[in-house]
Amino acid sequence: MKRSEGTFEGVWTLGETRNGEINPVSYELLAWGRELADKRGTTLASVVLGHDIKDKVESLIQHGADIVYVVDHPGLEHFAPDVHAAVLEKLVREVMPEIFIASATTYGRTVMPLLAGKIETGLTADCTGLDIEANSGLLIQTRPAIGGNVMATIKTPNHRPEMSTVRPRSRKPLAKDESRTGQIIEKTYPDGLFNSKVRFIDFIKDETTALPIQEAEIIVSGGKGLKDGKNFDLVRELADLLGGSVGASRQAVDLGWIPYSHQVGLSGKTVSPRLYVCAGVSGAVQHIAGMSSSDIVIAINNDPDAPIFKVCDFGIVGDALEILPILTEKLKALKATTNK
Ligand SMILES: Cc1cc2nc3c(=O)[nH]c(=O)nc-3n(C[C@H](O)[C@H](O)[C@H](O)COP(=O)(O)OP(=O)(O)OC[C@H]3O[C@@H](n4cnc5c(N)ncnc54)[C@H](O)[C@@H]3O)c2cc1C
Repeated sequence: MKRSEGTFEGVWTLGETRNGEINPVSYELLAWGRELADKRGTTLASVVLGHDIKDKVESLIQHGADIVYVVDHPGLEHFAPDVHAAVLEKLVREVMPEIFIASATTYGRTVMPLLAGKIETGLTADCTGLDIEANSGLLIQTRPAIGGNVMATIKTPNHRPEMSTVRPRSRKPLAKDESRTGQIIEKTYPDGLFNSKVRFIDFIKDETTALPIQEAEIIVSGGKGLKDGKNFDLVRELADLLGGSVGASRQAVDLGWIPYSHQVGLSGKTVSPRLYVCAGVSGAVQHIAGMSSSDIVIAINNDPDAPIFKVCDFGIVGDALEILPILTEKLKALKATTNK
């Protein structure tokens, strides 16, 4: 849609549901949206598509939305990309938001490009930062480019809405405020809009027992300073004891010590745990980019000048292969005492 086609107003976020409930990733996105809307001096709306969800959207207002647009229909129970994109297109053409952002989850990454194509506007995928340009009011979309070697700043000056997906876990949700009030607007469309070319057959749950690092509250990570892949056992033992997950630097992954799904950083996962412990990780900018929103960082490194010490809350200078077992033993002893 050309900017000249009309008056576009308001910031929108795409809400997500999981197993019939609002997915918490929607609240993180609202934190981004709230800041953009306040800077732009406009309202923040969240859009949710699903089935049997209209009674659950109040929480989006409590986490920062002024308005919630909800489309509740049996045809939206399972994610059919063609239907979700068609419904969003209707809504966007009707209400004409200025900015529309989604999480760079499987849902956001699938539906937003389809929508952008339908309404003929730009889309910046997988942003690590969003802001409003002071003079022009344009959305400033920042994302790594050329394999992460440069940070590109992208604007959409001539088309609307300005659309981006933003990395999950790149922002903490705003605190829930039960006294916030807002407007819930239910939209209905003819049944024909919900006919899909996709047929839902079955849902197969991922039975992997370990918690993915993006969802972990505690992460213990290892880097090249562990010297050998088998020393990751020390990291695993501490992580298990703390009830956390195992992370890794790219060097550790490239050396084949641990699968890519554990990699933290620019070309890996963005994490936001309460506690991030890292051993033998130097603290390269690309690693920091993936864990800088952790609440507390404890670093173990034998080089007192390692960059990781500039971003940690607690630093231990020493050999990780000696310190990890000491921490594990101390923790076991502490647990034994408290369990008595
Ligand atoms: C485009 C691009 C994308 C990238 N994406 C990522 C990414 O997603 N994630 C990521 O991590 N990196 C990424 N990198 C790589 C990044 O630049 C670093 O090379 C990498 O993070 C370094 O890993 P490391 O800290 O394990 O290894 P090193 O930099 O080699 O550091 C090892 C550290 O261990 C310490 N050490 C050595 N022995 C011991 C010991 N016995 N006890 C304690 N400490 C010890 C050393 O002092 C050193 O600080 C990317 C790079 C590029 C160019």
